[in-house]
Amino acid sequence: MEFEWKKFNLPGYGPLKIKYIKNPEKPFIANGGPLEGIKVDKYFFEYFSKKEKNACIWHEMYHTLFSTVLKKIKNELFYCQKQANWIEEFEADKYAANNYNKKITLDYLKICKKLYQQKIVIRNPKTHPPIQERIKRIKKLK
Ligand SMILES: [Zn+2]
Repeated sequence: MEFEWKKFNLPGYGPLKIKYIKNPEKPFIANGGPLEGIKVDKYFFEYFSKKEKNACIWHEMYHTLFSTVLKKIKNELFYCQKQANWIEEFEADKYAANNYNKKITLDYLKICKKLYQQKIVIRNPKTHPPIQERIKRIKKLK
């Protein structure tokens, strides 16, 4: 897939390189994993403020740093694939709220909600929990 490296300075972490995917098969916002690193779509640049981008990248950092194959296998032993994926999303949101900022993480999730509602980005229920549930859980965080 065609991509361009972009420099990104993540407050609280430091400089990073992220991949800007120019023509993804399906629109997305951002995703990350231990092997592929962090990838973003044009919507990441178009719809989010500087601070919301930081919250988004902190969320993806969780996937990049902590989503190990071993952990996935372990979660799938106890949960079905979908549940294991949803747990990881909740954890990544919490990680962004704790490492960066709760209020801004909520703002980031609200923009995601808008993109889902307008069907600009389609949520995959196998990988992502309902956005309202993600918002609710971050609101409840102390
Ligand atoms: Zn995620």
